Amino acid sequence: MRNDKIKLPGIEESKPVLLIVDDQPLVVRQIYEIFQEEFHIFMASDGEQCLKMCSELIPDLVLLDVNMPKMNGYETCEKIKSNVSTSHIPVIFVTANITEQDEVKGFEIGAVDFIRKPINPLITWARVVNHVQIKRQSDMLRSLALIDGLTGISNRYQFDEQLLSGWMACTREKKPFSLLMIDVDHFKAFNDEYGHQAGDECLRTIAQIISNKINRPNDMVARYGGEEFACLLPNTDLQGALKVARDIRLGIGESIISFTNGEGDREEARVTVSTGVASAMPSSEVEPTELIRIADEQLYSAKGAGRNCVKGINLSELA
Ligand code: GH3
Ligand code: MG
Ligand code: MG
Repeated sequence: MRNDKIKLPGIEESKPVLLIVDDQPLVVRQIYEIFQEEFHIFMASDGEQCLKMCSELIPDLVLLDVNMPKMNGYETCEKIKSNVSTSHIPVIFVTANITEQDEVKGFEIGAVDFIRKPINPLITWARVVNHVQIKRQSDMLRSLALIDGLTGISNRYQFDEQLLSGWMACTREKKPFSLLMIDVDHFKAFNDEYGHQAGDECLRTIAQIISNKINRPNDMVARYGGEEFACLLPNTDLQGALKVARDIRLGIGESIISFTNGEGDREEARVTVSTGVASAMPSSEVEPTELIRIADEQLYSAKGAGRNCVKGINLSELA
């Protein structure tokens, strides 16, 4: 019978995670049998358990019973949808008696579909597969929208988002926050000499070197534009940020960058970077974009000081 089912393109290489929530073991078992081969299945018997598993597992889809003791399916769904880390998980309600009003309510609180009890295996399979596919496609689009196409690291859009959230987190936790602006020196000359393709290859290598130099889980590097990279270092003071910046400067300066030149031959060269560092104890009175402005000024000063160097400052020193 499985061969009659709608196929899931692209899903074979990583099994989707399905969370089944129902207080009736028989229903859970029935659904389990439909999906056991092609999905990773987790089960919960009440709303509380469902919310906990949603946060921990981030399933690709939740099949949620409406009638459950304590917290019913609607309340549970509302909670899934109101938490930013789980709000994107599609929820399908599974229910026996369903009126038009119930259906309207379900869609209003964010469900993507309904499945009727008693369970029809083919309908259940088709609905779940369709929604998992949509979810996977939107996950992919989302991640592409946040990634720089040339280098594969974060793009400026993601940088701006994380600057804001990192700044707010450090404000709450009263932790210092630092930002690096890294610009490749004389990169126009590099392009002129070796060609634009070589320049692109060089930027990819630089992105990798910087990524390897920042290690903490909340650190991030992004391509800020052209030949300019930016790093966010939450919970890091000026001393720490200067150390990271110098480490990156050395790492790039010491690397032999290989690329294909305009004639199609492999060639090697060295490049250097200049970096501006800005650090602050964040507060709600200061806009995080102020940190970008100050780091840019420091970068300008590093260029003026002869390039291939790091300049940095604490925002408090400017007051
Ligand atoms: P400075 O040391 O003052 O930073 O000099 P520069 O030549 O690096 O700076 P300028 O701003 O004059 O030129 C930046 C050059 O970077 C222009 C362009 O040739 C190159 N560039 C920017 N983006 C890309 C890109 O995506 N690919 C390639 N290959 N080159 C790029
Ligand atoms: Mg430059
Ligand atoms: Mg530049």
